[in-house]
Amino acid sequence: MLIEKYDVEVFTPPCEPGAERYAARARLTTDISEVLPYLNATLRSAIYHPSANALTWKKGGHNIAFHAYEVATSNAEDREGAEKELRGIIDLVNRTWERRAEIKPDTTTRQRPTPMAIYKLLPNTNCKQCREATCYSFALKLAVSQKKLADCPPLSEPQYAEQLTALQEIVIEAPAIG
Ligand code: SF4
Repeated sequence: MLIEKYDVEVFTPPCEPGAERYAARARLTTDISEVLPYLNATLRSAIYHPSANALTWKKGGHNIAFHAYEVATSNAEDREGAEKELRGIIDLVNRTWERRAEIKPDTTTRQRPTPMAIYKLLPNTNCKQCREATCYSFALKLAVSQKKLADCPPLSEPQYAEQLTALQEIVIEAPAIG
């Protein structure tokens, strides 16, 4: 097992005061750098940052970050949810490490989605609820993490559920951790 011991800290990110969302961080006693290329190979939409020795990943609405001695997740509804999510991610790291002989490691860095790729998944009604003049201008800002998916209220409507899931897979939102 790669990660055997770790300390868990659950907190409300100071960058989101009053947001009532929770983040959790595991401080590790083991360097997990070697598993990052294996996670990069198996986690869809993960982005590996070799120079920073880090990997970020979007899982549902959670922003997850892997560093040499730390794993963190954000955007949970409550403290219990944040800790449960974090422990699940630790298990994922350990499972991936145990399967590494079957996985071809990937050290490439995937690119951010283009504004057009994002635009095609938006409601395209230009309703301006996001305070942008058009859906395309919203897509431009979402592509560079200056907006969040939650800034487009229509995306939470049932008819856009599939588009929202697809966007959650590809969009890299500004990390809410720390
Ligand atoms: S709130 Fe959503 S649907 Fe409305 S203009 Fe903005 S991106 Fe388009």
